[in-house]
Amino acid sequence: MALKSPEQYVESLRDGRVTFWDGENIPDITKFPRFRVPIALTAKDYEYDDPELGALRRYKPEEGGDAHRIYQIPRNTEELNKRVELLGHTSIGTAVSSVFTALMSVKDQVSAVNPQYGENIERMYRYCRDNDLRGAEVITDPKGDRKRRAHEQDDPDLYVRVVERRKDGIVVRGAKLHITAASVIHELVVMPTKGMRQDETDYAVSFSIPVNTPGVKIINRNFAPAELNAFDYPASSHHSMPEGFVIFDDVFVPWDRVFLAGEVQLASKLAQSLGLWERTGGVIGAVETSELFVGLAQLVTEMQGKESDAVAQASIAELITYAQMLKMSLDYACRHYEKTESGMVYPNTLAINAAKYYYAANYHQTVKYLHDLSGGLVLTLPGEADLRNPESGKYIRKYLHTKQSVDVEQRMRVYNLIRDLTADAYGGWHFVVALQAGGGLPAQRFMMNRTYDIKAAKEKALRAAGVKV
Ligand SMILES: Cc1cc2nc3c(=O)[nH]c(=O)nc-3n(C[C@H](O)[C@H](O)[C@H](O)COP(=O)(O)OP(=O)(O)OC[C@H]3O[C@@H](n4cnc5c(N)ncnc54)[C@H](O)[C@@H]3O)c2cc1C
Repeated sequence: MALKSPEQYVESLRDGRVTFWDGENIPDITKFPRFRVPIALTAKDYEYDDPELGALRRYKPEEGGDAHRIYQIPRNTEELNKRVELLGHTSIGTAVSSVFTALMSVKDQVSAVNPQYGENIERMYRYCRDNDLRGAEVITDPKGDRKRRAHEQDDPDLYVRVVERRKDGIVVRGAKLHITAASVIHELVVMPTKGMRQDETDYAVSFSIPVNTPGVKIINRNFAPAELNAFDYPASSHHSMPEGFVIFDDVFVPWDRVFLAGEVQLASKLAQSLGLWERTGGVIGAVETSELFVGLAQLVTEMQGKESDAVAQASIAELITYAQMLKMSLDYACRHYEKTESGMVYPNTLAINAAKYYYAANYHQTVKYLHDLSGGLVLTLPGEADLRNPESGKYIRKYLHTKQSVDVEQRMRVYNLIRDLTADAYGGWHFVVALQAGGGLPAQRFMMNRTYDIKAAKEKALRAAGVKV
């Protein structure tokens, strides 16, 4: 078992992986400017000697040694709370490795159908944990015409599928879209995007392969221009992660890395196992963002002398409600945790789905309150270069003055953060992420309908209506 240093992590990315960005096939991503921030962020999670976060990042597995806590399978409330704390202090490049926790949560069900697959899950989990690797959650297929099933599409490759079964493994073809951090991690952990039927056996496939496996190609995209200035872009200049359009061009996967190849009854179990941890991560991020919104709203209000205005106070109360509801929901989900048969503790499924739904369904409205309070400067504030130019800067300082206690530069920084978080590229990304990442609103509705105690609710209603039950 060996923890990597940040430098060893960066070095490990020089492995011949095939990735594209801005029309270039990039021979070494560690030298490509677009990857600077994403790699630096992910590398930070390898700083095990960090005085503040080092202890949170590592844990001691039963087998001895040290490993990154993202691999700790929570077995009690304390470990669950530690995991939640870690997810609040870790980059998404590391957080996506929760895919292994998800796999381990269904390992017993997979073993019951095929013990070899269960063993493969356990071995891959240990291999990645012990070598301090990171894995991406590779689930969402292109899906083509949504009305038609996988095998009914015009092009049979619109869902990842097995195209050949060999003695030593399978050959897969297809693509997975929107895969967060795909180019800056080590293993692509592939799962079906949804349940599959009996006539879709080739599409019920799950496995893990290194990013540099022959036939794997990744096309990257994200919200951040290559070089960002921290004054104008206080959030996205140091926080960005590419999403990958991941192609499997007849990729060979040896049997010992296969978790599913045809047993359709397991497809939805694997697909759903990840949803809970993805949504938990989404809610943790939303708690953080919603608290920032309250602070930003209060700051712009005070800076513009509107703090005693009833409408401003009402808008801030709406933002507080949003932030507090999310915080309480996360707390409830952790305190009312659930347990798998093998003893893994995980946040309450109904509470996490309700919280993620609440976050997503109300996000756009919540941002509207912040925009309403802030005014047009959110979009039109001049940039840092014009502030620093003495000729233009003197006008910016003069006309952005509100009152003696407000420093113009500080006011600009607050506006820049509001714009960066909510109004241009990164802000637009957040709007879509709230709705779609971790599954769209219907995915949470489906889970809530499945997990809520409808029988008890019906009985309660009948009793209240005077009907004996
Ligand atoms: C920034 C970002 C990061 C992401 N990261 C990852 C990742 O790391 N790994 C990963 O696997 N995925 C990732 N996703 C993908 C995400 O889970 C999907 O975007 C989401 O599940 C919606 O799927 P879709 O994009 O294919 O849209 P669609 O399937 O077109 O869904 C859009 C809407 O249409 C509805 N819909 C779909 N089919 C039907 C139908 N037949 N009838 C009626 N309505 C329908 C959906 O429920 C949804 O409301 C990410 C997405 C984003 C935006």
